[in-house]
Amino acid sequence: MVEFVSDSTLEKLFNKEDILHGQVFFNGKDFIENASEVILIVGKYGKIIYGNKKAIEAYGYSFDELVNLDIFALRNEDTKEFTQKQLNKALNSGIKFRTYHYRKDGSKFPVEVRSIYSNKKSKDMVVSIIRDISDVEEVYKDITDRKLIDQELQEKCKKLELLKQKAEDANKAKSIFLANMSHEIRTPMNSILATIQLLQLECINEEQSKYVKILNESAHTMLSVINNLLDISKIESGKFKLNNQSFNLKETINNIYNNLLITGNSKGLEVSYYLDPSINFEIIGDELKLKEILNNLISNAVKFTDEGYVSFRVKMISNDESSEKIEFKIKDSGIGIEEEFKEKIFNDYIQGDLSIKKKHMGTGLGLAISKQFANLMNGDICFESILGKGSTFIFTCEFKKFEHKERKLKISNMAKDKITISRIEQDKVILCVEDNLINQEVMEGIIKRKGYKYIAAYNGNEALSILKNNKVDLILMDVQMPELNGFETTKIIREEELDGKRIPIIAMTAYAMREDKDKCIKADMDDYIVKPFDIEKLYEFMEFHLRT
Ligand code: ADP
Repeated sequence: MVEFVSDSTLEKLFNKEDILHGQVFFNGKDFIENASEVILIVGKYGKIIYGNKKAIEAYGYSFDELVNLDIFALRNEDTKEFTQKQLNKALNSGIKFRTYHYRKDGSKFPVEVRSIYSNKKSKDMVVSIIRDISDVEEVYKDITDRKLIDQELQEKCKKLELLKQKAEDANKAKSIFLANMSHEIRTPMNSILATIQLLQLECINEEQSKYVKILNESAHTMLSVINNLLDISKIESGKFKLNNQSFNLKETINNIYNNLLITGNSKGLEVSYYLDPSINFEIIGDELKLKEILNNLISNAVKFTDEGYVSFRVKMISNDESSEKIEFKIKDSGIGIEEEFKEKIFNDYIQGDLSIKKKHMGTGLGLAISKQFANLMNGDICFESILGKGSTFIFTCEFKKFEHKERKLKISNMAKDKITISRIEQDKVILCVEDNLINQEVMEGIIKRKGYKYIAAYNGNEALSILKNNKVDLILMDVQMPELNGFETTKIIREEELDGKRIPIIAMTAYAMREDKDKCIKADMDDYIVKPFDIEKLYEFMEFHLRT
């Protein structure tokens, strides 16, 4: 049947590419009959004169039906966009073209055709190899679909860009409005606050003074809300500038820690503290903003912790000749933050659980502002939190170093003055043995407030040498200390008290465990107070032991 197709025609049809695609065997007529692709031989007037097994399978005609069929029965009318001219060109060159073919049942499928005259001169016969490309077409369709989707996306992006611009404009307008409003409200607020202060100076009765106190607190809360709004709007409109001035970081931190001690203690929380001694405390920065950030983080920690602890650690993380980067870490054992809320926590006006919101005051602005301030100070705020277990907020910022000897001198003179005054007020001497610098400073404030004389020892050995040269009326003894701990120091003190005069020793320990209390008593201490303690309770203890 196919003896009229020469091997050279076949060679032209099945080029290298086909051979590579699996048509490796090439043994003339047998190959055509059993080829894995459709092969048709079409006569001079478009009559099909041969179709291989694959052709019969592909078009659904029997061999006899296929032979003598007009080729247009397969190509059908609507595929005539592939013109005779193009067909001729393809036939002459042997290049592939794509079109659709029709099966006997009328269904259509995409094909890739390569046709060639078996005899270029007589042009009386065309041999075609036809490949069903339904799979490839799917991919094509996919690509076209994707192009359409891309176009749609581009249009949507353009729309979004416009909306974004509109939203940004609206946000700017909001910021300007907030700035104006805050300013308008702040002016009368100042007069309200001044009037409240004047009222407090008047001779008013207890009832009135209670009302004035409420007025004062509410006015301050209102002022801080307004200040927050003003800050946010200034930052958003790019008008905010840091007010960098020299200050002593240690003094600032001490004040903040004192507040933490008071608020933490009043909630019965354990408050702990560490201040890296290698920090250069004389620095230049925006002290007010630093205080605001720390107060916000610390007040959140206290606010969202009902039992356990709040710890505050300050350390230097990098340092060069002119500046240093400080890390402030505030850790609490509080309610923690829900997973889904974590990513929104630094958004403006966002608060966690609304039931919590009702319990705790706040505008949801604190963290948003704090983070922006931190960024302005070349730092950042990040956090880790586990729901029900607690949160750790880490705030970093950079300060310029500053040397200011005069100021230091002034402070030490002031401190001397205070000591003289307290000596006049009372002659009782309290020795506080505590290795933590800040705790020492806090204790100094607490003891001097009562008019006692205060002496600090930073470890057990120092305490022993102070006792040799000073008359001491009471010792407040930290238990955990390097070198010589509180128990060991007490033991030596007691051994040296030969003249029968016994100095009362009150242990101060962070561990509220029964066995610790026993240990203190066994170590011949007189009393025991758990950190964080209620200041009034400590005064009671001290007064009791000073009297006896
Ligand atoms: P607010 O002024 O309401 O306290 P913030 O921006 O300071 O606003 O805090 C936003 C929210 O983040 C709080 O309402 C609270 O839900 C959550 N949050 C902040 N700090 C803590 C923390 N230490 N523990 C648990 N939740 C916290």
